[in-house]
Amino acid sequence: MNLVAVPAFTDNYIWMLHDGRQAIVVDPGEAAPVERALDERRLVLQAIVVTHHHGDHTGGIEALLPRLAPDATDGGVIATGRERIAHRTRAVVGDDVVTLLGCEFRVIDVPGHTAGHVAFYGEPAGEAPILLCGDTLFSGGCGRLFEGTPAQMLASLDALAALPDDTRVCCAHEYTLSNLAFASAVEPGNAALADYRAHCIRLRERGEPTLPGRLQTERAINPFLRSREPAVIASALRQGAANDSPVEVFAAIREWKNNYR
Ligand code: ZN
Ligand code: FE
Repeated sequence: MNLVAVPAFTDNYIWMLHDGRQAIVVDPGEAAPVERALDERRLVLQAIVVTHHHGDHTGGIEALLPRLAPDATDGGVIATGRERIAHRTRAVVGDDVVTLLGCEFRVIDVPGHTAGHVAFYGEPAGEAPILLCGDTLFSGGCGRLFEGTPAQMLASLDALAALPDDTRVCCAHEYTLSNLAFASAVEPGNAALADYRAHCIRLRERGEPTLPGRLQTERAINPFLRSREPAVIASALRQGAANDSPVEVFAAIREWKNNYR
C-alpha cells in the first residue's frame, strides 16, 4: 500500500492510499490537487473518506464525485455518521469496520475538535499500521476544541495514544514546527523533543513533510499526550490549572496554546 501526502491550501494534507491501480483519499478540502495526484499515477478513485465536517476537509467532495469508480467502495463517500456531510453514501461510527483497498480500517470515535469527529485505523499486511486522524492529533499538538470538552478530547487522544508504537500518524495539517515551538515551552527539559524538533526543522528546510509521524514519537514529545508527566503537570499548574488531574492539566495546556504566539 502506498501512502502519499497530497498538499492542499497552505498547510493541509489530503492523504492518499493507493496500490498502483486504485486509490482512496481522506478529507479532500479541494479537488484539483487530488485530480492531479490521480492523473499523474493513472489511479482510479475507489473512495473518499471523511473524518469531520469542516470545509477544509469536505470542500472538494462534490467535484470529485464524477471521478469515483462505478464500483466505488460503499458507494464512494464514507464519512462520520454523527455530522452532516453532503453526498455521504456510508455513515460510520466508532467500532465500525471499513475495507479500503483490501485492508480493514477500524473507526474510532474521537470527539473534541468537532462533536462527531472519527479516525480510521488500519494494519496493512506487512507494513506499519496507519492512523488517519484528521484534526484530532497533530504532530506535537492537537486540534482546537471547537465543539467538544477537554474531557472528551483527552479521552479521544488517549484512545489514539493506545495504538501500537510504530503506527504512522497521518494528520491533516502541517502544523508541526509551530506545535513543537510551543511543546518546547511546555517541556524545556525534554531531550527527545529537542532532537525531534531539530529533525523536523531540517525536513521543512528541504521542503519535505514532517508527516506521517510515529505514535511512539508523539507519546515522547506531544504535550497533549503527556498530561500525566510531572514536567507537563508543573507547567500546567504555573498556567493556572486548578489541580494536577489529567483533564485539568490538558485543559490548561490547551488554553495556553490557544493564546501562544
Ligand atoms: Zn477541522
Ligand atoms: Fe482542518
